[in-house]
Amino acid sequence: MSSRPFNFSAGPAALPEEVLARAAAEMLDWHGSGMSVMEMSHRGREFISIYEAAERDLRELLAVPPNFRILFMQGGGLGENAIVPMNLARTGRVDVVVSGSWSKKSAVEAARYADVKVVAEGFAPVEQWQRRDDADYLHICSNETIDGIEFHELPQLSGSVPLVVDCSSHVLSRFIDWSRVGLAFAGAQKNVGPAGVTLVFVREDLLGRALPICPSAFNYATVAAADSMFNTPPTYGIYIAGLVFQWLKDFSYAGKTGVAAIEQRNIDKAALLYGALDASGFYDNRVPANCRSRMNIPFYLRDERLNDAFLAGAKERGLLQLKGHKSVGGMRASIYNAMPLEGVKALVSYLQDFEKQHG
Ligand SMILES: *Cc1c(COP(=O)(O)O)cnc(C)c1O
Repeated sequence: MSSRPFNFSAGPAALPEEVLARAAAEMLDWHGSGMSVMEMSHRGREFISIYEAAERDLRELLAVPPNFRILFMQGGGLGENAIVPMNLARTGRVDVVVSGSWSKKSAVEAARYADVKVVAEGFAPVEQWQRRDDADYLHICSNETIDGIEFHELPQLSGSVPLVVDCSSHVLSRFIDWSRVGLAFAGAQKNVGPAGVTLVFVREDLLGRALPICPSAFNYATVAAADSMFNTPPTYGIYIAGLVFQWLKDFSYAGKTGVAAIEQRNIDKAALLYGALDASGFYDNRVPANCRSRMNIPFYLRDERLNDAFLAGAKERGLLQLKGHKSVGGMRASIYNAMPLEGVKALVSYLQDFEKQHG
């Protein structure tokens, strides 16, 4: 189907082409309603049906248990860095594992509302975390988008401190062990849909703890009670997210379907790319093998003077947005759910050709 280039953007990121094509076909008239989804009342029958299907499909895909509410909010991942403490930091104690750039931002933001303790820095095993038993919650970022670090297993916290997980950049790329989670949030623009929608999965017993300063539109209990319609939700973004969920439900690979299938393809894609980087003395990925991200793969050319030539050549071959984050430099290939195996193969063959030419 595709003659489009392969887009390795870290976010907003590529969406499945099938989803974009369907949205285009439905743009002027959604299912005979005579309206674009953008023009519908969020309280009308048409949009409610879109919303309910999206919620149901997401719950099914990730096997979200009935004692979790799924909220479709606004404010993005950084918004949640403030919204979470305003909702959960009842006694004002927040523990944070700083494993990279995003969790560091979370710690800084939470410190505006609570006493924050950084219980570990870098990727340390849970036994070494200097946790407080009476913290209101413990925050981790389960996939550090900039540093390329991923938790391949969520920590099992002893005691009753809820685990809060920023899973913005790998939600739906794999299953989530809900028995270990109190709350998880994800901005949509990496793996789910357009920027603007923020998914929040919150265990019901954590509702109703908000601080008085928490704005009503960001109060989880208020939003949950109104089924995400306390104020106008990001309707078009929810619609696109819903199309992505349908795409995922139908997705099959290696004899599997749904999230199991996409997870297997993500494993295969990552193995292919890390394998090529590790086999070469020309490129360099610096993340230890036990916490390498399947989604975001930063790498460096050992001769950084070749960076501009590398990026220009990539673009010529239809390999877009490979430049690394400005804070760490180098390159980064983000290979989210929507990136086909062919895209990673095309990148690997470019890596090899460029090395032959310049190595
Ligand atoms: C992209 C990202 C964010 C930031 O999301 P915004 O929508 O820009 O606020 C937060 N956390 C992680 C892990 C991310 O990858």
